[in-house]
Amino acid sequence: MTLIESAVRNKLIDMGIKIIFRTRVIDAYVEDKTIKYIKLDNDTNIMADSFVETTGTTGPMGNCLKYGNGCSMCVLRCPSFGGRVSITKKCGIEDIIGKRKNGTYGAFSGSIKLNKESLSDEIREELNKNGVCIVPLPKEEINEEKLDIKVCQQYALEAFAKNLVLLDTGHAKLMAPFYPLEKLRRIKGFENVKFEDPYSAGIGNSIRYLSIAPRNNNLKVIGLNNLFVAGEKCGLYVGHTEAICTGYLAGHNSVRNMIGIPLLQLPANTVIGDIVSYANEIMYKEGGDKLRFTFAGSIFFERMKERNLYTTDPDVLYERINKVGLLNIYDERLI
Ligand SMILES: Cc1cc2nc3c(=O)[nH]c(=O)nc-3n(C[C@H](O)[C@H](O)[C@H](O)COP(=O)(O)OP(=O)(O)OC[C@H]3O[C@@H](n4cnc5c(N)ncnc54)[C@H](O)[C@@H]3O)c2cc1C
Repeated sequence: MTLIESAVRNKLIDMGIKIIFRTRVIDAYVEDKTIKYIKLDNDTNIMADSFVETTGTTGPMGNCLKYGNGCSMCVLRCPSFGGRVSITKKCGIEDIIGKRKNGTYGAFSGSIKLNKESLSDEIREELNKNGVCIVPLPKEEINEEKLDIKVCQQYALEAFAKNLVLLDTGHAKLMAPFYPLEKLRRIKGFENVKFEDPYSAGIGNSIRYLSIAPRNNNLKVIGLNNLFVAGEKCGLYVGHTEAICTGYLAGHNSVRNMIGIPLLQLPANTVIGDIVSYANEIMYKEGGDKLRFTFAGSIFFERMKERNLYTTDPDVLYERINKVGLLNIYDERLI
């Protein structure tokens, strides 16, 4: 986990992709429903035939204060790099906002990273050996309400309220949105615990699902001719896998759009096609804005099993994709 960011960055550079760091898009100029250029905070404009927005749905700090417990100093580092700016909103498109069970806007990110070295030898060894460590909570520490405020529905289960669940992700990932440090240190094995991410995980976590764009199932934004969206921006999605899958589709379609060929919509008998269209449909139904969609659990995982789509067998997957004529679809050079 610690090494993945530089590996991805190097891969992108090797592919000849120009990355502009420490720059934010602050505005967009639209004519006839078409973005002509986007404006950067260093006062330059970037023109293009197609754009893909992946600005996520989290923060900035004002929103984490309004809908959460304030800035938790999360990985987005708004104070250092600037807060999220919704490009769709700059284009005059109204954002869709996710809600919690009680109707409050947004949701708390659902986990904290603890410094593994700061945990007891016993916990650390179990994590290193099994990848997981479950520590039952004393009765007075059990708080099931916390499950309702978090984003990760796959972990919003009773067992996660009754126990501290730690996963070995390099750091020790604690499956709770936040935990007051003094209280955590009262639990055996956590006497010296230190937060790694967010730094202020004792008071809160980042607030997400504040800016989702209306889009078609080919991930083109409704109301604009040349803007595509991926990741959390394109739905109430949780997770990296979901961001990667939608990123591929949005990027591919942005090129198709540019050269004027029909956009790709993945069929619903593929898992990605189904999550893209199902989430888009359910989100607009009553209570749909309180749902989250992920391959990792909760309603979409159940749906995959019901529709016989869930498999880890590469041969079955090969056959399925081959049958719908989409094998290596993204490898084809369109221009
Ligand atoms: C604490 C925590 C733990 C998680 N654990 C897991 C996990 O174990 N497994 C998993 O699969 N998922 C996990 N997730 C969820 C996962 O991180 C997100 O779903 C995923 O990162 C969403 O990707 P994204 O690209 O849509 O948005 P983001 O990752 O939010 O990226 C958006 C980026 O756009 C930048 N940006 C915003 N506005 C602008 C602008 N105007 N100009 C330039 N840049 C801009 C932001 O600074 C940010 O870097 C976790 C999330 C959190 C917060």
